[in-house]
Amino acid sequence: MLETMTKLKYERPFIKKMSVGMMDKSAAQSEFTPVNEIDGVAVKELIREYGSPVFVMSETTLINNYQTALQAFRTRYPKVQFAWSYKTHYNNAICRIFHKRGSWAEVVSGFEYRKALNNGVPGSQILFNGPDKHEDELQLAVENDSLIHLDHFEELFVLIGVCNRLQKKARVTIRVNMDTGVQPIWDRFGFNFESGQAWQAISRIATESNLVFTGLHAHIGTYMLSADAYGIAAGKLSDLALRSKKELGILVKYIDLGGGFPGSNMLKGTYGAITIPSIDAFAEAISHSLRTAGFEQNELPLLILESGRALIDDAGYLLGTVLANKKLSDGRKATIMDFGVNILFTSFWYDHKISPAGEPSAYQEDAVLYGPLCMNIDVVRESVRLPLLNRGDHVVVHKVGAYNMTQWMQFIAMRPPIVLIDTNGRTHLIRKREDLAYLEQPEVLPGYLA
Ligand SMILES: *Cc1c(COP(=O)(O)O)cnc(C)c1O
Repeated sequence: MLETMTKLKYERPFIKKMSVGMMDKSAAQSEFTPVNEIDGVAVKELIREYGSPVFVMSETTLINNYQTALQAFRTRYPKVQFAWSYKTHYNNAICRIFHKRGSWAEVVSGFEYRKALNNGVPGSQILFNGPDKHEDELQLAVENDSLIHLDHFEELFVLIGVCNRLQKKARVTIRVNMDTGVQPIWDRFGFNFESGQAWQAISRIATESNLVFTGLHAHIGTYMLSADAYGIAAGKLSDLALRSKKELGILVKYIDLGGGFPGSNMLKGTYGAITIPSIDAFAEAISHSLRTAGFEQNELPLLILESGRALIDDAGYLLGTVLANKKLSDGRKATIMDFGVNILFTSFWYDHKISPAGEPSAYQEDAVLYGPLCMNIDVVRESVRLPLLNRGDHVVVHKVGAYNMTQWMQFIAMRPPIVLIDTNGRTHLIRKREDLAYLEQPEVLPGYLA
């Protein structure tokens, strides 16, 4: 009995020799090839210097993704502009990598709007989306000549009030929702196309002397697997634009098709069985639709894209460390990691690829991968086949660049640091690990409890 108290190097039972072709479906995409470096920087070094867990962002991958996407659209359509979706990853260093290459900013809240201004984005290149723009934020946007994307009629009326009070004109765009043949329809955002609501909003805007109707916007969903849906959306927005010209004499300056292009992460339970269209497929569907909609050649609207996850997901890595192994009551092996759903929100819908870092083991086994939280739903992978891992071994989680570093929470554990590897292979800390002082900074202790 005593000997079970001493630490064993390997757990003895349930070890299976690696047998190619015997993998069950749930583990089919697991990786056994160790990943020992990211952009030439050793995983071990990164963890030694910045601790574990730690997020790592690759500037090289970011830039490649951005250039590839831009190229896909620019080779098919004459006027293209990207705007970085702040909520996907709003660390200033990351935003500036995009802005430096000409990307505008797409924001959905007041603090994101201010972040974009602080990042040096001219007000006229900030697209202000979202259903919750406060009156003072609308005022700030009007003063900075930003592109205000209206979500509902109440917002339209507040904006009219702001403009009249300031005696200033505002450039407005309406967000349009529509049936693109893909369920569910995101009809909670913006004005509906089929019901005539969108046209009603445009007509109302046209009567306001302080509002300049400028563009049309749609963001039809996220992780969209149908390029055709974008063709349909571009077609419906074009209909509205052509009608504006014909009936109101207003030339729509831009058509913004939002984001929603999928990254290459695998959705849970799909086992790689679905095909993810390339960015070229989306570019082709959209460009074709706009080019054939009936615009005069010299009146083709600017095409704006707000792609988020497709540009950044595979540029992000999470490095972590094994805390312990144990056996569950049904005999399955469980491995506890030092990162969980608190910082890997996307593991609720993705089967993230996880690679060991270090010497490859000849053996592998299926395991449930748990996070460190005292919470039953803290499961990073329900079933993954990995080489044997021991306490202290490191792993690399792939494609975690989108949304995790904005949706993370400090439930039980502090949020980890973010490190950027620049195009020269140098590392930069771009967000510090949180600590107790940071956590308690906004707390206020009532005098009687002091
Ligand atoms: C979130 C969001 C985006 C980015 O979406 P992805 O699916 O990450 O490409 C773009 N536009 C709007 C309005 C959004 O809300």
